[in-house]
Amino acid sequence: MKYEMIVGLETHVELSTASKIFCACTTVFGGEPNTHCCPVCTGMPGSLPVLNARVVRYAAAAGLALGCEVQEHSVMSRKHYVYPDLPKAYQISQYDKPLCLGGGVTLSCGRTIGITRIHIEEDAGKLVHAGAELRMDYNRGGVPLIEIVTEPDFHSADEVLEYMEHLQNTLRAIGVSDCRMQEGSMRCDVNLSLRRPGETEFGVRSETKNLNSFSAVRAAIEYEYDRQAELLDAGGAVVQETRGFDADTGETSPLRDKENADDYRYFPEPDIITVRITEAEIEEIRAELPELPDAKYRRYINELGIAEADAKLLTKYRAVSEYFERAGDGITPKSAAGFIVTNMFAHITTEADREHWNPSVTAEALNELLRMSESGKINKNTAKRVYAQMAEGAGRAADFVTEEDTAGISEDALRALCEKAVAENSKSVSDFKAGKEKALKAIVGAVMRETRGRADALAAERQILSLIG
Ligand code: ADP
Ligand code: MG
Ligand code: ZN
Repeated sequence: MKYEMIVGLETHVELSTASKIFCACTTVFGGEPNTHCCPVCTGMPGSLPVLNARVVRYAAAAGLALGCEVQEHSVMSRKHYVYPDLPKAYQISQYDKPLCLGGGVTLSCGRTIGITRIHIEEDAGKLVHAGAELRMDYNRGGVPLIEIVTEPDFHSADEVLEYMEHLQNTLRAIGVSDCRMQEGSMRCDVNLSLRRPGETEFGVRSETKNLNSFSAVRAAIEYEYDRQAELLDAGGAVVQETRGFDADTGETSPLRDKENADDYRYFPEPDIITVRITEAEIEEIRAELPELPDAKYRRYINELGIAEADAKLLTKYRAVSEYFERAGDGITPKSAAGFIVTNMFAHITTEADREHWNPSVTAEALNELLRMSESGKINKNTAKRVYAQMAEGAGRAADFVTEEDTAGISEDALRALCEKAVAENSKSVSDFKAGKEKALKAIVGAVMRETRGRADALAAERQILSLIG
């Protein structure tokens, strides 16, 4: 029996403010355990939290970039639970009055995934298992988080992953988070239920917590679909519960019964009065937002005429699009984009390296090279070779362009070369005459080899055709 899959996603994203949400401790990732801490972020009795105003601005920027309504008044609340990662035994979060409401992300299929809310809260410490011992590291405690909650609008793992990628690109572009799943600065909870086609009521869901990679999210969704479908097929019922995911086995297993809001005994945080952000501040933040990746992608395709695949790569990483825009100044965008993607980007394979895009050839130096190519001073093959020399030798384009490169090939010389190629490749000539179109390429290839790529391949092809056609 085939079921319809319903997924709602909760995504935690660490904000990249310099200091924590309620104290001046650093938010830098890692560090010797318990060195980025103070009485406030370790919840010592009598310490008082002071809300970092930048956290509110960053969270508001995230909300605006995701189409939400930022609320001028919102409220911090205490969410109680007892676990070693939280020495106060409550997390300061937002509950019934979050900072952002409503919003959405439109997927490539045209459907929009609704965003229910975005609220701000503090991160908890980390449990470190050292042999038989359990140790605590509170460096992460008090790092600011936003939690982005969607409506139960997803119907497949592909949709969820596309949404996550959208979040990542957008939040990175506006500079509020680095969204590094491998460092835990972006983590997802998958709420998933099934229903029979045609049913209008949602089924009972499970919530799989703390997924820290794209592949874990996909695996958890697939596993939960199969598990719930099997249960339902056998006439059983899904229990509402919180589950954990094991990346080694690719399986989920129950952590605890799902708690209700009641279990958390939420109440307004008495040490922090209402969170306020004025309409004027909201408009200022909106005005300061950079062009968002989606808009940039559409502009690259529609206005600059760049190939879709290239536009996708260039707009995914802010540093890459900035590089492209500087290196491509005065150049046909499509050729600048193509050059960067094939000669540079394609050779960077890890996600981390792509994020830290920092090529040895500066945008200005590449621009000089591309201008030489654009003006026809050197041809494409030469440009490619010169680029490789620049990347290795750290010089400017002019240092590597030889007189031979720029001499070009006169019409007479090209005719002579073509005649020679025709004479020396009689097999290809007869193949071509017998209808093998490909054989023509072999003759053109001989001319290109002879000139080490300096000849105009199209002109050579025309010339050869006039000789043998
Ligand atoms: P809680 O706060 O208890 O986790 P919420 O009602 O806020 O519960 O929902 C959390 C997430 O679960 C949201 O992303 C929501 O879209 C999703 N969700 C709610 N009901 C279902 C369901 N039946 N199937 C799948 N997802 C659901
Ligand atoms: Mg939840
Ligand atoms: Zn602190």
